[in-house]
Amino acid sequence: MDRGVIELFVCPECHSPLRAEASPSAMNNGSIVEGRLACASCGRSYPVVRSMPRFVPTEDYARTFGYQWNRFHQLQLDAHMHNDLSRERFFATTHWPERMEGQRILEAGCGMGRFTQIALETGAEVFSFDLSNAVEANLRNNGSSGRAHIFQASIYQIPLRRESFDKIFCMGVLQHCPDVRRAFLSLVPYLRPGGEIVIDCYQRRTGLFPPFKYWVRPWLTWMGPVRIHKLLSWTIPPAFELKKALYKFPFVGKPIGNLIPIGPVSHKPKLDYTDEELKQVKILSALDMFSPVHDHPQTLEMVGRWFDEAGLTDVYVGTGFNGINARGKRAVQGRVAHAGS
Ligand SMILES: [Zn+2]
Repeated sequence: MDRGVIELFVCPECHSPLRAEASPSAMNNGSIVEGRLACASCGRSYPVVRSMPRFVPTEDYARTFGYQWNRFHQLQLDAHMHNDLSRERFFATTHWPERMEGQRILEAGCGMGRFTQIALETGAEVFSFDLSNAVEANLRNNGSSGRAHIFQASIYQIPLRRESFDKIFCMGVLQHCPDVRRAFLSLVPYLRPGGEIVIDCYQRRTGLFPPFKYWVRPWLTWMGPVRIHKLLSWTIPPAFELKKALYKFPFVGKPIGNLIPIGPVSHKPKLDYTDEELKQVKILSALDMFSPVHDHPQTLEMVGRWFDEAGLTDVYVGTGFNGINARGKRAVQGRVAHAGS
């Protein structure tokens, strides 16, 4: 971690400043590779392991994502896959400018860093955290940028000075927190007055029957990510080959192939995946549906209420890439609700 940003970090328990403790041999060009951040007030200390400060002792409910994003650390990375999927979703959701030099951005729930990479490309300074050890994958993907500050922490106890960020984003994350409203509200105090927060969240479908995923989850989630991944690796590739073979017979085979619930067998011409890549994309997307401990979709009304509760202005709540998209600004002067209030 860059010594120059330590003053932005505080103790997540008592919000007091932290002091770096590292031997000269554990430093590299002004960065701390191994050491500790010690709280001057309550005496707690937090290890810096492989250049990242760790403010949580375990991955807790996010352990499935630690497995998922270290196992699939590049499959959703634009730079690796030579596509623009993450870039398109980032700008369609945030409506932020392509250049943001001099701005400080906070990313809550970074996973392996698909959006960290896009935020860094704008020229901004980016602070990214995750509860899981997916931060290891993010460091591998984005750690070479001097503007990436990656750490492991809980969204409910963010170890940063309040009112320090021009922008905050949290994408693909909130529905996987045990208390979604409290997770959202805990982000807002880190915005500087006038700063903007953008989130997305799964949308709860109203109607008699919940989507297929919510029928299957109770049968699979208890198995844990390793066994679910194994099961998907045994079943999805043969199902893919069968579907592809059936599609060669448009009148008889295709309708039968359509019954195999693994999505399309080609994304051409938009995306040029090989068959092997496409099988892995399907395995990852099924793992992402079935393994998370928490999956709590929300309604537009509920999300709108959180933004009101947080005292945000210029609020937009609508639908988009991940279900619900929402944006709001912190008033230049005024009250900000804190989590749990
Ligand atoms: Zn403390």
